[in-house]
Amino acid sequence: MKQFNIFKSIKTHFAFIAIMVLLTMQFAGCGSSSAEKNLNSQKAKNSESSNVASTEKNNTSTSESSSSSTDFDLSSVPAYSGTAYVAVNNNTPYFSNSDLTTKSFEKYSDLDNMGRCGVAYACVGKDIMPTEKRGPIGMVKPSGWKTTKYDNVDGKYLYNRCHLIGYQLTGENANDKNLITGTRYLNVDGMLPFENMVADYVKETNKHVLYRVTPIFEGNNLVASGVLMEGKSVEDNGASILFNVYCYNVQPGISINYANGDSKANDSSNDLNNSNNDVTKQNDSTNASESSNDDNVVHTYVININTGVYHRDTCDSVNQIKDSNKEIFTGTKAQLLEKYANLRPCKNCNP
Ligand SMILES: [Zn+2]
Repeated sequence: MKQFNIFKSIKTHFAFIAIMVLLTMQFAGCGSSSAEKNLNSQKAKNSESSNVASTEKNNTSTSESSSSSTDFDLSSVPAYSGTAYVAVNNNTPYFSNSDLTTKSFEKYSDLDNMGRCGVAYACVGKDIMPTEKRGPIGMVKPSGWKTTKYDNVDGKYLYNRCHLIGYQLTGENANDKNLITGTRYLNVDGMLPFENMVADYVKETNKHVLYRVTPIFEGNNLVASGVLMEGKSVEDNGASILFNVYCYNVQPGISINYANGDSKANDSSNDLNNSNNDVTKQNDSTNASESSNDDNVVHTYVININTGVYHRDTCDSVNQIKDSNKEIFTGTKAQLLEKYANLRPCKNCNP
């Protein structure tokens, strides 16, 4: 109940947050011009199917039946300066009116020839929200994936398998077209507030939100620089939900090589990966390296898969979770956070 109220207040104050985002963006825009210029002006194509033929200039043909495309120019986004996301296009999504529909759907792009995800697009309605408990996603290895740990990252793991469209919205879990290599920070601080806002709105109103998440890859990079998130409530034409934000795929204190997923701590004392110098040990073994935790004690955790909040099994709040939303996990905290991409700790029991 407590968590639910927090979400409510996120929603209620979203307009305020949006204003703060805009202010922050303007402020950041003043002082970051040199870093900003270093960003490629790589264009990202938002492609999705609709029945309107596009006449836009950058409409290169793809294998998809892309018919409407909007250009998002990464060079217009200020360099990261301490805020997890910034508003884009005055916080207004690039949807056109003809995109608005009250029929739920979800659509994921095929991986490109480098194994990278593309646009994920949905009209989120209650009818496509998950009704089953979430399963493991540890078998999916998104482009640029590396199992890498740092002391100064919540849960230790730098990267999460990060859903483009959050599990709570469409129930797509281990779909490799919906999972990218994203930092913990992107996952929790960048994307989750918007996912929760949309999920709460749809659940409470039984109405629809048009929702599109575009991973932004620069050049041939295997790790996305960030994701563009667009959302608009359909039935009231955006009066309740309206956002267009760029979330940075960064982790404070860590430098990331977006070409291949390599990383290093800005302060080397936080780097847990250098216990030996064999780089291949930390790479690409997907699950093998995840079971070698020795730095955490095994506990039993209770996860509310509806809200994404996790508890120790001794927490009083556990009794208030509906059985259908409850999932039990026994293991180290790092394993827990690796298995489930969008978890946040309960503020009561500090698991
Ligand atoms: Zn708790």
